[in-house]
Amino acid sequence: MLMKGPDTPANTSDTHPVGWQVAMKRAIRSQAKLREIVGLPVESGHASDEDFATFVPLEMVSRIRYGDPNDPILRQVLATPQEQVRVEGFSNDPVGDLDASIGGGLIQKYAGRALLVTHGACAVHCRYCFRREFPYSDVSALRKGWKTAIELIRADETIQEVLLSGGDPLTLTDSKLDELIGQIESIAHVRRLRFHSRLPIASPQRLTDPLIRRLASSRLLCWFVVHANHAAEIDAAVAASLGRLRDAGIPVLNQSVLLAGVNHDVDTLVQLSERLIDLGVQPYYLHQLDQVHGASHFWVDPETGKQLIRAMRERLPGYAIPTYVSEVSGRPSKSPVD
Ligand SMILES: *Cc1c(COP(=O)(O)O)cnc(C)c1O
Ligand code: SF4
Repeated sequence: MLMKGPDTPANTSDTHPVGWQVAMKRAIRSQAKLREIVGLPVESGHASDEDFATFVPLEMVSRIRYGDPNDPILRQVLATPQEQVRVEGFSNDPVGDLDASIGGGLIQKYAGRALLVTHGACAVHCRYCFRREFPYSDVSALRKGWKTAIELIRADETIQEVLLSGGDPLTLTDSKLDELIGQIESIAHVRRLRFHSRLPIASPQRLTDPLIRRLASSRLLCWFVVHANHAAEIDAAVAASLGRLRDAGIPVLNQSVLLAGVNHDVDTLVQLSERLIDLGVQPYYLHQLDQVHGASHFWVDPETGKQLIRAMRERLPGYAIPTYVSEVSGRPSKSPVD
């Protein structure tokens, strides 16, 4: 496929999609290249690839309005000088993942559920992410072939549900995933397998038919939690992929982060919820931003967030309202903000 010149957006997702591994290889990997491809001036002093590597698949770039520095998708991936501002209360591990790591890439904070950090890689690098400062490559389970994690899950009969998160579990190949799912299936007390993945949004061709068949035929009930913050992220290709999950009987939820300059107004949140429920995807959580260094410019104060939720209630069915939550280290669940 021909690469488009810098004067047109890289609209490649809905013509002949390349395989997802090729899509990952073609992803934009520097702020300078990102600025160039979306039609922004490439100024020195803007790039901050050293702090947090840039990674944006072209499928996601294709949804960005060309030449608009305020585009809500671009804002999620564009480095800004505000990232350098150190703000009190913003830290490196705001959600206490290091304290809750029980070994082998397993993080257990909540009853009945254990989260497996399957892979250090992500489908897209979001500038607001609480993991931007987290040493995932150190705790990633992959390096030890999940042996420790599987033993820990097997030894704890209270674990009914295993969450595959990361990074992004779908950056594993089908054969690695098959191996991992097989090991989890062999643990009798585990009943559900939950995927937390942004790949269905960032690079929807990842949801291949063989992968969906594997999940649908598992002994475990699979749930999917995807992550979109704005309706513009859900183009026709994403909608089709989410539809394939639904057709296979796999429930799909969406979580979002409340982000200044991206989705912190009621019209945007209503449009996102409507887009999701039209596709049979249930809005699950709206997260208060985790206070990680470098992300303070995305902060929306909780009072504003509560008003937004109230305003959404006046316009949407009850099932379209996500639960507005924050993550407070040491609590036994996500904490509703109300
Ligand atoms: C968020 C999270 C979960 C899932 O919580 P739910 O409320 O069930 O969605 C599980 N484990 C960890 C470590 C988490 O951070
Ligand atoms: S963990 Fe999720 S929010 Fe964070 S960078 Fe990866 S895809 Fe983005």
